[in-house]
Amino acid sequence: MNVASDVLATPLSEVLGDRTAKVVAKEIDLATVGDLLRYYPRRYYERGEPTDLSAVPLEEEITVFAEVEKAVKVPFRGRKGFRLDVQITDGNGVLLVTFFNNWKVERELRPGRWAFFAGKVSVYRGHPQMSGPAYELVDGDGDVDRAAEEFAKPVPVYPATAGLPTWTIKRCVRQALDWFPELEDPLPAEIRSRHRLPGFREALEAVHRPADEKEPYRAHPRLKWDEALPLQVVLAQRRRATLGDRSAVPRPARTAGILDRFDERLPFRLTDGQQEVCEQIFGDLAQTHPMHRLLQGEVGSGKTVVALRAMLRTVDGGGQAVLLAPTEVLAQQHHRSITEMLGPLARPGQFDGDPDGTRVALLTGSQGAKERRANLLDAASGEAGIVIGTHAVIQEKVDFAALGLVVIDEQHRFGVEQRDALRAKAGEPPHLLVMTATPIPRTVAMTVFGDLDTSELKVLPAGRSPIATHVVPAREKPNYLARTWARIREEVERGHQAYVVCPRIGGEGGDETDGDGTQLALLPARTLSGSAGSDGAATPGGSGGPAEAGGTDGAGPEDRRAPLAVADVAQELSAGPLAGLRLGVLHGRLAPQEKDEVMAGFTAGTVDVLVATTVVEVGVNVPNASVMAILDADRFGVSQLHQLRGRVGRGSVPGLCLLVTEAAGDSPARERLDAVAGTTDGFELSRIDLEQRREGDVLGAAQSGRRSSLRLLSVLRDEELIGQARKAAGELVARDPALADQPALARAVSALTESERGDYLAMT
Ligand code: ADP
Ligand code: MG
Repeated sequence: MNVASDVLATPLSEVLGDRTAKVVAKEIDLATVGDLLRYYPRRYYERGEPTDLSAVPLEEEITVFAEVEKAVKVPFRGRKGFRLDVQITDGNGVLLVTFFNNWKVERELRPGRWAFFAGKVSVYRGHPQMSGPAYELVDGDGDVDRAAEEFAKPVPVYPATAGLPTWTIKRCVRQALDWFPELEDPLPAEIRSRHRLPGFREALEAVHRPADEKEPYRAHPRLKWDEALPLQVVLAQRRRATLGDRSAVPRPARTAGILDRFDERLPFRLTDGQQEVCEQIFGDLAQTHPMHRLLQGEVGSGKTVVALRAMLRTVDGGGQAVLLAPTEVLAQQHHRSITEMLGPLARPGQFDGDPDGTRVALLTGSQGAKERRANLLDAASGEAGIVIGTHAVIQEKVDFAALGLVVIDEQHRFGVEQRDALRAKAGEPPHLLVMTATPIPRTVAMTVFGDLDTSELKVLPAGRSPIATHVVPAREKPNYLARTWARIREEVERGHQAYVVCPRIGGEGGDETDGDGTQLALLPARTLSGSAGSDGAATPGGSGGPAEAGGTDGAGPEDRRAPLAVADVAQELSAGPLAGLRLGVLHGRLAPQEKDEVMAGFTAGTVDVLVATTVVEVGVNVPNASVMAILDADRFGVSQLHQLRGRVGRGSVPGLCLLVTEAAGDSPARERLDAVAGTTDGFELSRIDLEQRREGDVLGAAQSGRRSSLRLLSVLRDEELIGQARKAAGELVARDPALADQPALARAVSALTESERGDYLAMT
């Protein structure tokens, strides 16, 4: 009997023996008793009563419980191998069971052994027989009556592999359960009784050895708590650590500082939402511990000005602020628009500048050495109160004189390391503001970003016109496609601009091995002539949909044509439906300077139509653009489409987004597009998006490239439970920060933080 206090950490080899433990590790990647006990059955198989052998139904999956009467090995004639004829009986009848070339069976199915056989009975040469059934032996000296009783209970079916069948897993789990009659409960008694949850042991027995089919489901909530609570405790501890000990330089308000001067220049009134969020942020900035805030705001809700005001407040307080953008295009745009908004305030040293202003430095990966040096110097000397950049800022050697605030735009594109690297650049931890326009459902925010405070900008600035979105089924309604191009021409004639977005770059860059097979379908006539069959299979709406670099879009079936490419589309459009308009091309493979020129041209209105990849997805802001056609729209994820269309309708001009697709009317791909067309609620869409991904991707893989530790808990479905666990964790940690009174929970928490699967926690 083993009553070790830390039984869950016991290596499986101690319980299962080295050989089996090795197989378990290799096949299903479990190392400890805790891993195994938390390896839950996927479902349960109701065997009910074994079939009477005197009356077996044919061609039906059945299970029989019988004794081996005899086993005869019949070698094949003229070739290698053998057949094993096993005659079994249950006292009522006999049945022939055959196996081929199976030495293990020959060893195991000896006369006198009892076993369960599961399979189909067929008539072969006039006789019923069962060929190659799955079987499970009853222990040699086992009690056959008891075995039959066991047999009537639901059989757990574990996620198995060819090398490790479900019944072996079942046997291992039971061995572990029996090895440790006493298991300490990681869930505090108080929480158990408050939420009426069964004990740990009871819950494990219920899922692994249920007496009836309902038992496991009664135990699930309890086991979900086992997943939710340690996670929330880690987050609560981290929250406490960041808020508790680490001090930051407070940046209180200053009258007649640069912020006030900026507000005087502001050409519009802040919305109530912006005002409110700014106040929250200013409150945080005035504290002596670092701000840690996530700002979620719909596309176009005006997050930039909120961030800018926070940055100016920091400058007023003697600090510097850095704004990080995920792409070069966006960094450049931020630099352009912030410099513009600041006007003379961004030119302190110049004759037309304002001596009370501050410099805005731009740091991108592709700058010339001289420009780079000047900007680095501005950052290091503190001349630049605001530094804007891409990853380059953190990858290269950048020093700040007094880094006080880090703003990260479009957080989902940033890795943990990058964020940490940047925060490490400040002596005292800087305040942190993370912004995203891809709203995260509340529970995900709570789970993944559990230690971030959140603010939301829900209302768009007044005068913003709504975006109308329509699906253009290019195959079924070719004239709609013609109409799409006509609409773009009309908009341009009215002095507006347009985007045409394609999933792929194409051209000479060599990203297309299948370029020749690409048949464009931009003109109705060509659509009618038909490209290779597009079955509308949904693209796995992965983290970013099709990668801009091309080639990694997880193209569907073989016969699906290659996704449309910017280079080809631009050419065909300028020669055809959009002839005479000024077309620009933008994608990630252009030289940075070219990119900048194209964007500047589009911003200035010298480019009418921008044919681009998803580089325009985040943040790009050209208020005069009124229409966007997204080609092969089914190749993009739901959230991504929502992001993309946010590029139009940003001014007072109503926005129009056309989702062009060849996906069939009733395909899942079309359903997703209809969902996008049907709502402009980003929260709703991100939920749809998340539901279509594997849950693990949401928390684990997408963030850290690893498997999620969640088994039963669903961050989408278990919102209420996660909320309760968060509250409980907060109370526990406030009262007993190191969990001294809860050793079993403390162990679960450290197992989580130590385990590589807990890595995603590191992202906050
Ligand atoms: P996002 O939240 O998507 O980053 P931006 O910050 O780029 O949105 O803002 C979109 C546009 O709205 C910008 O042109 C910005 O100047 C403008 N804007 C921001 N706040 C307001 C406001 N209160 N009233 C009018 N226009 C605003
Ligand atoms: Mg933005």
